[in-house]
Amino acid sequence: MNDLRFQELNTIKEDTGISLYLSITPSIGKKEVLNITKKIIDVIKDGVKEGDKEIFEKSKENLFNHLEGLRVKGKSLFIFSSPKNTYEFFYEFPFRNEIYFGKPNLYQFYWAQIEYKDFGVVNFTEEKFSFYKISFFKEKLIFEEEPKVDTSTWRRKHIMPPSAPKSGVSIGAAGGGDLKDAYEEKYLYYIEKYLSDFKEKVIKDSDDLKVIFVNSDAEENIDMFLNIPPPSQKFIKLNAPSNATINEIIELGIRKIEEINKNEEKETLKILFDRAATSNLAGVGLSSTLKVLQDGRVNKLIISENLNKFVYECKSCGYIYQERESCPSCNSKGQELKNIRFHIYDLSKKYKSELFILHGNEAKELDLNDGIGALWRY
Ligand SMILES: [Zn+2]
Repeated sequence: MNDLRFQELNTIKEDTGISLYLSITPSIGKKEVLNITKKIIDVIKDGVKEGDKEIFEKSKENLFNHLEGLRVKGKSLFIFSSPKNTYEFFYEFPFRNEIYFGKPNLYQFYWAQIEYKDFGVVNFTEEKFSFYKISFFKEKLIFEEEPKVDTSTWRRKHIMPPSAPKSGVSIGAAGGGDLKDAYEEKYLYYIEKYLSDFKEKVIKDSDDLKVIFVNSDAEENIDMFLNIPPPSQKFIKLNAPSNATINEIIELGIRKIEEINKNEEKETLKILFDRAATSNLAGVGLSSTLKVLQDGRVNKLIISENLNKFVYECKSCGYIYQERESCPSCNSKGQELKNIRFHIYDLSKKYKSELFILHGNEAKELDLNDGIGALWRY
């Protein structure tokens, strides 16, 4: 996350307090935020250990004091509140409503980096060629160019020289064409040159992007851009209404990317189930997946967004396992109960597996197998 204040939060990892995630709408008032928080704080109240009760109460008091003065200014909110510190962050991408007591729980930020990958938008208007990057639903203009030819001609079906009389008198020219042909040829040459330079710059600056949507108020402009070399799989046509604002174009991009992601989820789940059914380097279920993962054999770790299971972490070697008396790796009896939901991101990083998150119906299908499975390397 390139949010400076988020980095600040990273520096107080050892602090203990309440982490609160809320999805909100700009129309929601402070009162509603308070009401939701009061409701969900009850969920964790009973789980707080005796020795932590004082820290919890003080964190809670600070949290509600903070909410009293809250000014809603985004689509989602994250607050971390401890007896000493309270941090508030608004974002434009949604969170799951959730509350947690302990060390700052940043797991939703890590999941969000997987769920909301940055994408690009190339947009052509009469005056400008623009390239935006959209990160967590917030756009940033990367560069913009004003072509030195009059692109208003470009959007007319039949290109006419600016000086051509309306009656359309043609004057013969060498090579058999007329003035109109000569103009069109020269005009296209310049347009293509500008587009091709622009395209190369976009490609050069988009290593971090999976998809770049290409939009213009005239479809033939999009085609022209796509057909100009070099070809790239990253570019996808986006047909926003001709008078759409950049925000509407981005909204449309977000919906398109959701479609792309949904298809990828369906495909991934099918591969997982097909391969697991034939024991072809894949498996589902918590116990076996944890084992294969910690053997370093998992290529793609696939989880449901609803993943919510308790596991033990060995206090001496850090091995994660399901309920049993001693650690299967080192036989030590010291263990700590943890929810795998909050640790799966770190585990996937540790064992160099790609974490993939399923949503909606696909998530529910995997929930029948503990909400977890994996494609193996070997
Ligand atoms: Zn152990």
